[in-house]
Amino acid sequence: MLKKVLIANRGEIAVRIIRACKELNIKTVAVYSDIDKDSLHTKLADEAVCIGKGPASQSYLNVKNILEAANITGADSIHPGFGFLSENAKFAKMCEECNIKFIGPNFSVIEKMGDKVNSKELMKKADIPVIPGMDLKDKDIKEIKEIANKIGYPVILKASNGGGGKGIRVVKQTKDLVEAINIVKKEAKQAFNNDDIYIEKYIENPRHIEVQVLADEFGNIIHLGERDCTIQRKNQKILEESPSIVLDDGLREKISKCAIKAVKASNYTNAGTVEFLVDKSKNFYFMEMNTRIQVEHPVTEMLTGVDIVKEQIRIASGEKLSYKQSKINFTGHVIEVRVNAENPSKNFMPSPGTITGLNLPGGNGVRIDSGIYSGYTISPYYDSMLAKIIVHGRDREEAIAKLKQALEELVIEGVDTNIDFLLKLITNDDFKRGSYDTSFVEEKLV
Ligand code: ADP
Ligand code: ADP
Ligand code: MG
Repeated sequence: MLKKVLIANRGEIAVRIIRACKELNIKTVAVYSDIDKDSLHTKLADEAVCIGKGPASQSYLNVKNILEAANITGADSIHPGFGFLSENAKFAKMCEECNIKFIGPNFSVIEKMGDKVNSKELMKKADIPVIPGMDLKDKDIKEIKEIANKIGYPVILKASNGGGGKGIRVVKQTKDLVEAINIVKKEAKQAFNNDDIYIEKYIENPRHIEVQVLADEFGNIIHLGERDCTIQRKNQKILEESPSIVLDDGLREKISKCAIKAVKASNYTNAGTVEFLVDKSKNFYFMEMNTRIQVEHPVTEMLTGVDIVKEQIRIASGEKLSYKQSKINFTGHVIEVRVNAENPSKNFMPSPGTITGLNLPGGNGVRIDSGIYSGYTISPYYDSMLAKIIVHGRDREEAIAKLKQALEELVIEGVDTNIDFLLKLITNDDFKRGSYDTSFVEEKLV
């Protein structure tokens, strides 16, 4: 078993990983930027090393300082969490070269599957349905126009290296194409330091359905069912749940089989998520693979009882999966919401500041993953997610009722939050009925 894990992340996910390590009797090293000196993850780890200043480029993305911190503290492994360096194949390779186990897939697999363009090519070859699209690298405007016409409007432009819903634009007609290309390229350069873009057919009124997979280094693969992440704003997830009410058992089996096929075709190991879009006629298409732990992994953990982070560590330690597919049971219904420091009435503008009062809900079937405490100051440098509330009910109705209760008990003072917005969302009739698609929040709620 690995002996000492350095967590190359911050906030609630760093805390989540530290907890799993402690349960497994593994020593932990936190890294932090100077303004995160008083963060929960810094306090909870056995050791903590400052790796630079506030801006992520100088700290949480500072590969040299992170590797040095691992070296100084004698960490034998690095867990990258999500965001930051988690899908960075170069970083994973450097870890390997430094004899540090990267807790995730091999760098060559990240290269293949972490990239929206490469992964689609591979999936097509494996006979998995893929949204029609094309890489636009080195294409001029005239060629792009022809490609868009061939695909047929509406089309969607995406940053090839994108994530977190950034660098995405829908284009309804030719006359808007050039402007959209410029915007996406600019956003992609800013957010991902790479302005390669990709074009694909825009699937209208879809549901976002993803499948959680686990694979060890001995060829054993299992799936842990789906998560429905259709509730989004600006292509960013807000609420995730399982099971999805749009899947019947037949479709569920087909999608999970495709996810397993994707894992096999890419020689994938460790935890990963295969994302699909399901259209109105229940056709489904591979969209991308996230080669890392995801924000919404607790949904699956509560539904199945499997601790995904502990499985990641076991797999990275060279152990076999501790579950067989036939032993995975799905019980009840789970919903997660992301509580953010933001102001919904000011276009969801981030609201950094100091938390002056805090009451976290609890009770039967309520899980809170957070990195905050009363007196903690939220910095403007990082994303605005404060906590995730995850509830487990015997069915969807009970889960919604529990979530409503939890959100009503939750008090966060000192900063603006989206708590009232989340309450409005989960008490909406269309939401309760389950009749919505990815445009629901923007069209019906804001
Ligand atoms: P998930 O797919 O786990 O729901 P998100 O897509 O919401 O996760 O992203 C999780 C976090 O990681 C967010 O803070 C997001 O901004 C960030 N993120 C995701 N992908 C990337 C990426 N390629 N580069 C930088 N940050 C990313
Ligand atoms: P990211 O890497 O930012 O997570 P994704 O490719 O997973 O980017 O897309 C994020 C979201 O954007 C999806 O969940 C979906 O709501 C929307 N989206 C992406 N591609 C399409 C498409 N071809 N048609 C319709 N919606 C799409
Ligand atoms: Mg995605």
